[in-house]
Amino acid sequence: MCVVGLGLIGGSLMRAAAGAGREVFGYNRSVEAVAAAKFDGFDATENLDEALRRAADLNALIVLAVPMPALPQMLDHVRQTAPLCPLTDVTSVKGAVLDEVRRADLLPNFVGGHPMAGTAHSGWSAGDAALFTGAAWVVSVDDHVDARVWSLVTQLALDCHAVVVPARSDEHDAAAAAISHLPHLFAEALAVTAGEVPLAFALAAGSFRDGTRVAATAPDLVRAMCEANADQLLPALEHGIELLTRAKKALADTGSVADLVETGHAARMRYDSFSRPEIMTTVVGTDNWRAELAAAGRAGGVIRSALPVLGNPG
Ligand code: NAD
Repeated sequence: MCVVGLGLIGGSLMRAAAGAGREVFGYNRSVEAVAAAKFDGFDATENLDEALRRAADLNALIVLAVPMPALPQMLDHVRQTAPLCPLTDVTSVKGAVLDEVRRADLLPNFVGGHPMAGTAHSGWSAGDAALFTGAAWVVSVDDHVDARVWSLVTQLALDCHAVVVPARSDEHDAAAAAISHLPHLFAEALAVTAGEVPLAFALAAGSFRDGTRVAATAPDLVRAMCEANADQLLPALEHGIELLTRAKKALADTGSVADLVETGHAARMRYDSFSRPEIMTTVVGTDNWRAELAAAGRAGGVIRSALPVLGNPG
């Protein structure tokens, strides 16, 4: 497989895939990162066309691990040099990526992905072979998705010790707005609010650290994911602000924040006891397999080992 972009996610992927015994090579635009990857024993180049030509020769799975703003340019290179390779990505938004892949005429061999794992650090040195262990990895089941490419991408996630959540791109984006992009904006607001209060940083402990952890992420990455998911983030933001506005009014009028605190606590308890049944019965490639997997993913189901594929013995 060929990893394009050897930062936190691409670099972790390269380490995890190599650890699983896969042949993996990659591209990074910075000479320093390529030198660091080579020093660590990995097969890396700063020549994108060379990496993609090699991928085309081997029919390797190409994984795009660059931020959203860099994707159109990378997709143009893939179209020119390796248009027939199976293709996936790790981008935190899926609808906007799908639009770009369609524009680049690469949809038939593309299956979107999003490992739900990360840290606030960037670059090759931040990578960790164990980053995906136990994490959810969304593998898209949009209408166009090819069974063979889907199985390749799913196997990659399983090799990295993740569990696979099948989901449609639009549903992924609505969920990502709620559990990732909105928390990023709230964390920034919390950090700003505390930063304006004398003594606050001197007293800050666990609540502040946990509530603002993601505000330490590089601003470019936060902007890239929030702005690329504006369609789904705007209604989530509106709902979050509405809840806070109601709590503010209740506090001013009645002295109580009970409504928000009790419904928030109940929702968090539901999350803590959320079950993750294993998806085992779907045969990939049969009639309706994508809709079946999307429904199972929506219900909390996860794939922990490869599913049977129609026409593949064993
Ligand atoms: P990173 O900054 O660590 O790595 C980004 C990589 O992309 C670097 O190798 C950089 O050189 C390369 N790059 C950036 N712009 C480029 C350009 N114009 N041309 C060529 N290469 C370019 O970031 P990351 O956290 O690894 O993020 C990569 C992708 O993973 C993003 O799409 C992000 O949405 C996704 N993602 C991030 C996280 C997270 O927590 N950081 C989690 C899941 C998915």
